[in-house]
Amino acid sequence: MFKTQYAKQVFGMLSARNPGQAEFLQAAQEVLGSIEPELDANPELTSNAILERITEPDRIVRFRVTWVDDLGQIQVNRAWRVEFNNAIGPYKGGLRFHDSVTESILKFLGFEQTFKNALTGLWMGGGKGGSDFDPHGKSDGEVMRFCQAFMTELYRHIGPESDVPAGDIGVGGREIGYLFGQYKRVTKQFSGVLTGKGLDFGGSLVRTEATGYGLCYYVQEALRRLRNDSFADKTVVISGSGNVAIFACEKAAQLGAKVVTMSDSAGYVYDPDGIDLAAVKAIKLDRRGRIAEYVDAHPGAKFVAGGSVWRLPCDIALPCATQNELTGDDAKALIANGAIIVAEGANMPSTPEAIDALHAAKVLFAPGKASNAGGVAVSGLEMSQDSQLIQWSFAEVDERLRGIMVNIVAQSLAAAGDYGMGEDLMNGANIAGFRRVAGAMIAQGVY
Ligand code: NDP
Repeated sequence: MFKTQYAKQVFGMLSARNPGQAEFLQAAQEVLGSIEPELDANPELTSNAILERITEPDRIVRFRVTWVDDLGQIQVNRAWRVEFNNAIGPYKGGLRFHDSVTESILKFLGFEQTFKNALTGLWMGGGKGGSDFDPHGKSDGEVMRFCQAFMTELYRHIGPESDVPAGDIGVGGREIGYLFGQYKRVTKQFSGVLTGKGLDFGGSLVRTEATGYGLCYYVQEALRRLRNDSFADKTVVISGSGNVAIFACEKAAQLGAKVVTMSDSAGYVYDPDGIDLAAVKAIKLDRRGRIAEYVDAHPGAKFVAGGSVWRLPCDIALPCATQNELTGDDAKALIANGAIIVAEGANMPSTPEAIDALHAAKVLFAPGKASNAGGVAVSGLEMSQDSQLIQWSFAEVDERLRGIMVNIVAQSLAAAGDYGMGEDLMNGANIAGFRRVAGAMIAQGVY
């Protein structure tokens, strides 16, 4: 599995120390496998024990969240904040509220976030947090009381210059608003402690759209550089129908593509005429409904319960729902159907078998830590605006976002090129992100 003794030995130690943390080990295995040439070329990485240090979170806070539901019943949830690495800036990464959340999932997300944030070129370390609370079907009052109880503990561990959370699955503008309100209430401070805030209280324009738009800017640039091609006239399949999926759909359509699917955990809709995004926004953003409702007003579309959007013919596949949602068999179907690129909007949506199959078939593969970095990039820009008490225009933030995504493609290809890896965007992103964090850790001494 590994060619270098150092990576093999550290992964063996990680496996022994983290039993049952499958997602974290999957993410670590990918990164360690990618950076082996860098380890070979730079013995100081071994003598400084960089792998042992970079794979162990600086700290993890776990806490109980107790709140009262609409029936007056006391509810108890588990919550965590994983502060993974702050070598290049304050811990930065989202909060996930979903019943599947475990420490392993938050550790994999925090680990990935460390390298993703490095790729943006901004001053942000890696972190992640969340809870096994599931907002689906909860009233606004219940979500508010949960967020207040969650922040009543979390506030002790975060701050605008130490740890700056944002949204993720199950945490959007509503939840960030409640969390920010409670942070202010208990600290008396109005600061940039959270990103994704409302535009009237310290938020940045383009933050809502940033991950999906950034994903499309990345794909547009990768296709331009590596295939002399673009989104124009392409058929796109997208999974998910949340924040990332909706704005990826919007930008792909603006760039001339036809998006034919969106999904949620119940199934997917297929609209051969192209997804009517205004209808999706009305269902998902205005009414917090289910994607199945789409077909009520679109007789030409169909809803398929369960099933996989990856089995449908497309040129471009954008997984934007959750981890390990695109399997080896899904990848084989995409290859057989002639897909030219799979670009991850979600974090680690492709299994290792899927990635191997795509690489073997020379289908371009964009790893989430590079292609979905637009969200955290604009969060970084929100932090800059907050610290100056100003707000940039939509056009200015959008242009900075586009520049960051173009630069991530360039950095990844340059790092891959250093080791003769051609158009391997995954190894390139892992090496480029790792280099920046490892260099900062060595410069800062043993701690
Ligand atoms: P949302 O909560 O807005 O939407 C999530 C979507 O994915 C929903 O359609 C949801 O369906 C679906 N989904 C979630 N979990 C599952 C599951 N276990 N099985 C099937 N479908 C599922 O989240 P986001 O759009 O913000 O996040 C999507 C992905 O993008 C995540 O991997 C996240 O980590 C990543 N990401 C998000 C960023 C952001 O800025 N928001 C930044 C970078 C990455 P349902 O409603 O049925 O659960």
